[in-house]
Amino acid sequence: MTTNFRRLAARRDLGVSLEVFPARDEAGLDVLRSLARRMRPYAPEFISVTYGAGGSGRERTLATIKALREATDTPIAAHLTVVGASRAETLREAERFREAGVNHIVALRGDAPEGEARFSPHPEGFANAAELVAALRQRWPEVRISVAAYPETHPDSPSREADLENLRSKFEAGADDALTQFFFDNDLFFDFLERARAAGIGGEISPGVMLMPNFFQVKSFAERCKTSVPKWLEARFKGLCGKKDKDSLLTHRMLAAAFATEQVLDMAVRGVRHFHLYTMNRPHMAEAVCRALMLAPDGEM
Ligand code: FAD
Repeated sequence: MTTNFRRLAARRDLGVSLEVFPARDEAGLDVLRSLARRMRPYAPEFISVTYGAGGSGRERTLATIKALREATDTPIAAHLTVVGASRAETLREAERFREAGVNHIVALRGDAPEGEARFSPHPEGFANAAELVAALRQRWPEVRISVAAYPETHPDSPSREADLENLRSKFEAGADDALTQFFFDNDLFFDFLERARAAGIGGEISPGVMLMPNFFQVKSFAERCKTSVPKWLEARFKGLCGKKDKDSLLTHRMLAAAFATEQVLDMAVRGVRHFHLYTMNRPHMAEAVCRALMLAPDGEM
């Protein structure tokens, strides 16, 4: 392991991007402004802001983008989904992001609204992410477009092969790179990467790394998106659920930070150069991960 750390320290090509969700109010915006400033010394490639379909969700994404653009010179990426909107409305939304200075869109289909079992497109809307990518690419050839990828296969997909075909169609439509759904077992990511390369998908695929201020909340997200939670990971957190005393909370956080750094360092020594960190709008674990990757301020280490 010492040798691996030395090898890592010698590298200068590692990097991260950070994902945040839109703030609900001014206090939430302040938290994100402060996250952006605190993370600036680690030179994140971009900060992406997730998209909530529907009126207030959309407005919060735009307001968060504007606040972050004022707070930092880190490039801001906007997520955009096609749920519940016509093609024209979706493209208008992209235009508003462009007007706010966004040059990078994470193009997504999105999930079915609460209460609906399956996604069904708006009658005049895009049917899937690939169609959105094609329309964005045609309209804005210069914009960077990222898409989603699923190491454990998207729950709607009939097979692993069909899911890879879908990823290929997003690259063929003009995507520049893919960011993955979070996962906990790195072998699943490397197996996926190998299958993607074998299927002729050559674009960059960055692993999505979930930082866990609350393991039990993340476990319930994981159930919803069919991300497997290994028994060995659950065993580490066992007994900490619902404990609100200071020591248990601290133990929980230290464990979560230890797992996140273990996960990224393992991928880094296995050749991964870029990590997309799901920050859950908190800077501390993201900062710990950046330091573990030796992305220290001024490169001093
Ligand atoms: P697509 O790539 O269109 O495909 C989804 C599934 O449908 C795939 O399994 C595919 O194989 C299948 N499929 C697609 N087209 C067809 C077809 N023509 N026939 C048959 N099957 C088809 N959600 C949000 O609401 N807001 C966000 O900001 C957001 N950010 C995300 C960021 C990342 C990095 C990731 C990984 C996910 C994010 N999501 C977000 C969740 C995402 O919207 C859901 O996972 C959604 O269900 C699928 O979106 P997609 O872009 O992958 O869809």
